[in-house]
Amino acid sequence: MWQKFPLWAKILAGMLIGILIGILGVWLKVGWFVTDWVKPFGVVFLNLLKLVAMPLIFASLVTGVTGLSDITKLSRIGLKTIAYYLLTTVLAITVGLLLVNAFKPGESFPEDKRLEMLEQYAVDVEGRKLAIDNIKSDGPLQFLVDIVPDNVVGAASDNANMLQVIFFAILFGLAIVIVKHPKVEVVKDFVIGLNEIILKIIDFIMLFAPFGVMALLAGLIVDFSGDNLSDSLHLFATLGLYALVVIGGLLFVALVIYPTYLRFFAGIRFVDFYKTMFPVQLVAFSTSSSAATLPVTMEQVEKGLGVSSEVASFVLPIGVTINMDGTSLYQAVAAVFIAQVFGIELTLVQQLTIVLTATLASIGSAGVPGAGIVMLIIVLNAVGLPVEGLALILAIDRPLDMLRTVLNVTGDAVIATVVAKSERKIDYKPGMIGESEQ
Ligand code: ASP
Repeated sequence: MWQKFPLWAKILAGMLIGILIGILGVWLKVGWFVTDWVKPFGVVFLNLLKLVAMPLIFASLVTGVTGLSDITKLSRIGLKTIAYYLLTTVLAITVGLLLVNAFKPGESFPEDKRLEMLEQYAVDVEGRKLAIDNIKSDGPLQFLVDIVPDNVVGAASDNANMLQVIFFAILFGLAIVIVKHPKVEVVKDFVIGLNEIILKIIDFIMLFAPFGVMALLAGLIVDFSGDNLSDSLHLFATLGLYALVVIGGLLFVALVIYPTYLRFFAGIRFVDFYKTMFPVQLVAFSTSSSAATLPVTMEQVEKGLGVSSEVASFVLPIGVTINMDGTSLYQAVAAVFIAQVFGIELTLVQQLTIVLTATLASIGSAGVPGAGIVMLIIVLNAVGLPVEGLALILAIDRPLDMLRTVLNVTGDAVIATVVAKSERKIDYKPGMIGESEQ
């Protein structure tokens, strides 16, 4: 019976049950039970996803590069990918800026709340400032240095180093294509076999996904509300308009900008697209991490939308690290919101600076929970806004993080289809199965 439900329904059911367990835990004051006996299963699920991320990137990218008939294609695909990613990011930021300037959520923010929050979250803000200090001391070309690892095992040992592994995998794949030695075929076949194995492991992990997201969400609700749910709901009311502007922006990008891309550049019906992406979005929402969601994104984009593995394995991992439409939109809204609460008028030049720095900051954000708010400090600094303002939005950052992560992974998939279409590397038929069979 359970088998018959589609994957998205199973994951959704897991999420709802998880939310219920979390609320019950808080309500009955047995949060400790959820923390000790339910949440660990969520951590196990998250670990499983992270576990396969690196081998998946390596094996699928090498398989992809060696499968390209013409390797000059690689630089063309690379340039296109980066251009499309930048374009969507700038569009998303513009949507955020327009909305936050139109609705001005910061202007109605009560003065007493502002002082209270600044005091309450001062310590948390200090922690974020320390994290950013390391990043700021680097020179402008540091990003180049960061892409080239000095030790491949070291690079593969930390999921934050995805770009380094991508770099090595491309190099490795290119060398396989160029070297004409019979023994090289063995290596090539080995990596292709490895890729198949990793894909099977992802299938196994997805069997566990409904339970994993259930445990993640139950644990999150208990952590988030401490033991007092009404306090948290009250916070939502205070920051409601700000949250609504962020959510409105995310929805606009998801329901207007992406469908336009899909229609004109990819020739995909957006209903089909969202049907395929729904399980991916649920996992992104539950994990708040586009990096952890990558294995699921790759599987659905390839099997559900028919994007060839050469393109998907190249475009999607790069997207996880550099393309974050949701994060950049949120950073723009948050920066202007903070300015409004502090009564600081932003000039047009400052707003344009936000577009530029939010683009760079989202490129620099890792696909992990909470990365966006740390990188927001760069945006605030660039336009001379008080970093202490983070205190105002920290309390509800997690739920917004979950939502912006959904947009981040969706945006990566949109561009994967667009690039695949332009390279004739997509095998999509309208109405094709909306998701891979699990
Ligand atoms: N959690 C986001 C992601 O993984 C990054 C962020 O905005 O904090 O995509």
